[in-house]
Amino acid sequence: MQPLVYVIVAVIVVGLALLLQHERRQAARLVERSLELERLSAELLRSNRMKNDFLANVSHELRTPLNSIVGFVDLLREGVYGDLSPRQVKPVERIEVSANHLRHLVDQILDLAKMVAGRLEVHNETLDIRPFILDVASEMESLVNEKNLILSLVMGSALPRIRSDPTHLRQILVNLLGNAVKYTHSGTIVVKTRLLSLESARKDGLPVYYLESRDLPDSERFPHSWLSVQVIDTGIGISSADFQRVFEEFEQVESASRSARSSRGTGLGLSISRRLARLLGGELSLISEPGKGSTFTLWLPVMGAESGSATENSPHSG
Ligand code: ADP
Repeated sequence: MQPLVYVIVAVIVVGLALLLQHERRQAARLVERSLELERLSAELLRSNRMKNDFLANVSHELRTPLNSIVGFVDLLREGVYGDLSPRQVKPVERIEVSANHLRHLVDQILDLAKMVAGRLEVHNETLDIRPFILDVASEMESLVNEKNLILSLVMGSALPRIRSDPTHLRQILVNLLGNAVKYTHSGTIVVKTRLLSLESARKDGLPVYYLESRDLPDSERFPHSWLSVQVIDTGIGISSADFQRVFEEFEQVESASRSARSSRGTGLGLSISRRLARLLGGELSLISEPGKGSTFTLWLPVMGAESGSATENSPHSG
């Protein structure tokens, strides 16, 4: 009996020792793997940072000569170097269009690189939203008229003052209005601005998945009042399968790029606009139906004291 107990104990001890050794090896392997993962992720971060720095530097370096090209073409067109002959007018115009397009692209890449690197600054000011939107809309008037479209503004008479960055806000609205004009062949573009409670904003489609991920107290992530600025067009529309894709960098929807081939886009405008909206503590959402039109909604948080009562739907048409 005795020897059998010894054998059993010995087997158990050896078994335990083997198990322990196996566990140790596993643990060592895990540590090794997690170190390797850490190294890879640091490397990824570093190469991503390098890519962004490279993009930012190249765009910055390209801007100076491009500004000079655009400046000299302007002078040529104005006749500062003598009148252009009729044969020269068209090519000089083409240089101007292409140089402006390139400059716009370079500016967009620079903005994007800064945003990805978290280096785009926000300079908030107190803004009176009504005159602000009127001003942006009047800037777009000539584009709208060129295409024989109608631009209509629907704004509450007592819209609140908000704290936001006017440059970024303008850029978002100009992008949205520019797209509405680009992708609409006939009909009306409406800019509708409303003040909503958080509950109504949620019901109206305020996307919460990004806002929820922000590391802020609830009162700042989800303030009680929201300003919704909608750009509504009667254009070619976007199919729901592409709703996500259009907000991604360099993405263009096939039918749209065919229909607007004359006004080449970059596929960056919406991705920049959404990043900017988020930088301002808000969001950008889309609903659309092919053939019927699109509605892009810019959601802006209205913090405490700035909110007032908004009267909805007192139209101002332009
Ligand atoms: P682009 O410079 O190509 O306009 P954007 O990022 O602004 O780039 O838009 C991405 C794509 O989303 C466009 O190429 C187009 O397919 C689609 N799109 C944007 N706005 C509209 C709109 N108002 N109506 C229809 N399609 C649109």
